[in-house]
Amino acid sequence: MSLISCDNVSLAYGKQAVLSELSFTVERGDYLCVVGENGSGKSTLVKTLLGLLPPVSGTITFGKGFTRKSIAYLPQQNAAQKDFPASVMEVVLSGRLSSKKFISFYNAHDREVAKGVMERLAIADLASRSFRELSGGQQQRVLLARALSSESELLLVDEPTTGLDPLVTADLYGLIEEVSASGKTVIMVTHDIASAVKYASHILHLHQKPLFFGTKEDYVSSEVGRGYIDRGSY
Ligand code: ADP
Repeated sequence: MSLISCDNVSLAYGKQAVLSELSFTVERGDYLCVVGENGSGKSTLVKTLLGLLPPVSGTITFGKGFTRKSIAYLPQQNAAQKDFPASVMEVVLSGRLSSKKFISFYNAHDREVAKGVMERLAIADLASRSFRELSGGQQQRVLLARALSSESELLLVDEPTTGLDPLVTADLYGLIEEVSASGKTVIMVTHDIASAVKYASHILHLHQKPLFFGTKEDYVSSEVGRGYIDRGSY
């Protein structure tokens, strides 16, 4: 059974249709990149996967044991988040809250998981630093650590490299690839088609309707894929 199965789904804001005839599946261990021009509905799909915008029609089915709590979300950064007044350790630990049934204090296991993730992402030395004083790239590393510390089955990433320079961008994509290689399922929304076809196992290309859904290999040899790749990123 697929982890996520999206069957003939339509999404809209009130009377404004955004996406229709949306069908795709995500299997355990897949790395799905969602691409498409601005306004094609990528962020709207993210909202629906997170349960914030129910489909107008169609069905989304989750695999056995998978719930919306199984999704760790790395959102697009906005100015308010960049200025968050907490230490790096506190930010990473806050990722543990999603795994708790009741609001409670962090326990020794939470701290152990958070520390392990920080070591894995090479930010352990930043633990007591103030999040707001870090560079954009360091902040994204910390937010990735926060998402991973939830130990959720699926990592959902929305435009992770906006505002980052090319070196830091490559670094972040490398980290997400490592997460994928470790067996976690990844869905990434991106306008960066070159990185999408470099890292993804599957591509979903949106434009009011899905223009393509399938493996990366099939996408790069498809007419839609070739046309989009030739035009570069959006
Ligand atoms: P993308 O992420 O691909 O740039 P979005 O999902 O943000 O696209 O937007 C898809 C369409 O939905 C756009 O036409 C956008 O103007 C519209 N839209 C996005 N958010 C809202 C909203 N909260 N209310 C009404 N329309 C919206």
